[in-house]
Amino acid sequence: MVSRGVEERVSELQDLRDEVAENTLDIVKLVAVRMDLARKIGQVKTRESLPIDNERVEDALLEDVLAECGRLGLDKQVGAKILSTLLAESKKVQRAQGASQPKQLITPMVMMAKAKEVEKGGRKLVRLDVGEPDFRPPKAVLDAVSKALYEYKTYYTVGRGIPELLGALKSYLAKRYGYKDAQENQLIVTPGGRFAVYSALATVASEGDSVVVIEPNWPAYKEGLDYIGAKTITVKTSFEEGWEPSPERVKEAVRPNTKAIVLSYPSNPTGKIMSKAAFKEIVGYADDRGLAVISDEIYNDYAYKPCPTILDDLPKRYILTSSFSKGWSMTGFRVGWSFAPPETSARMLKVLGLMITCVPEFIQLGAAAALGCEAEVARNSMAMKERIDSTYEELRKVEALEVHKPEGAIYAFPQAKDPGFDSSAFAMELLEKKGVTISPGTGFGDYPRCFRISLGQPQAVLTEGVRKIGELLG
Ligand code: PMP
Repeated sequence: MVSRGVEERVSELQDLRDEVAENTLDIVKLVAVRMDLARKIGQVKTRESLPIDNERVEDALLEDVLAECGRLGLDKQVGAKILSTLLAESKKVQRAQGASQPKQLITPMVMMAKAKEVEKGGRKLVRLDVGEPDFRPPKAVLDAVSKALYEYKTYYTVGRGIPELLGALKSYLAKRYGYKDAQENQLIVTPGGRFAVYSALATVASEGDSVVVIEPNWPAYKEGLDYIGAKTITVKTSFEEGWEPSPERVKEAVRPNTKAIVLSYPSNPTGKIMSKAAFKEIVGYADDRGLAVISDEIYNDYAYKPCPTILDDLPKRYILTSSFSKGWSMTGFRVGWSFAPPETSARMLKVLGLMITCVPEFIQLGAAAALGCEAEVARNSMAMKERIDSTYEELRKVEALEVHKPEGAIYAFPQAKDPGFDSSAFAMELLEKKGVTISPGTGFGDYPRCFRISLGQPQAVLTEGVRKIGELLG
């Protein structure tokens, strides 16, 4: 026999469900009205040739939404997430009205794919596009990987990383950074620095959040955040200011939904190294605000003045990402690592476990061997310094360009003196007419007058490339 009490509770539940359904339909009707408004906005923008994105308007709306959440007692994260979805859908509707489409950016990866396509056709190119040193990986690494293969270290292994490599990384942190307190549960071995960066972003930010990055920079920060549905807030630096980032501008950029600040020095593409004082100021500010700092220190072996590291001023929330790709010239091995507080590391490890299970054991044994190859890293670093010096001098002779001397990393990032210069069109023409590939500045932010030259080639190739660039620029 069903008691009256149960019946009443069932009917109460039904009433609530009816109300929820009605409420959901009301929301859908409101969204339809909003999309209709977006359509009209799209038409106006098309007519007036205005861009779809308007940061100021979006920021003001976010402030209003968060304030309303506060008044209503609604979780601000939920409000930010809903707004983010609405904005994304509105932009799609606006674009469908013909308002200006975002151009496909020629990032270094896009340029590399184009170059490989041309090379397949048999044409020999001067490749100054992708950020890949041409140095040989250390012989000890090759020996360790071959040995591991012949010992059948070819099965699944633990996600975080094998004890040999985690132990070697702990010793490396102590020796290289003077950081002696690292614990194994703070480290993760990743398939390249790229994965470490993506899992760091995915761990600190979700849809509706924002993250501050300093431009120009490696495009994968923004691409990763776009994929997650989080917003990238960019703080621009300029050639005129010597690519010097201002801590004040970083602080001003932080919004109520900001979760992290990304720093990466020496910088790809400018070669800039932030001063220790500015770095400390930004990290201190992030710490006070409870923001995470992601410090991508992949180029730390190519630093020609003292370079700050997050390990010097650890805030409460930090993620250090790095890689064997550059210092050891092991790009194709796909192995990097991250260092963060245990809880953060556990969340990043989840992303890694879900996607790839683990980095192959024989690769990890190669990476562990790499950590003993200090002489090779020092040699690579010295060779890069010579390339920076020579290429800088050669670029300075190109009348149409201006350039700052890189303080680190493996790139030069000159700017054309012509204010109307379009480096994307120039990159295409350079490829076609001179067989030289570079990466246009728009791949790193709003820098159409600049382009990146990778110094991952022997000096003779760099000299030839710069000569051809000079010829085309006239
Ligand atoms: N961070 C920066 C700044 C980079 O330039 C790159 C590669 N160009 C990476 C991370 C990732 O490199 P990898 O995945 O090969 O370690």
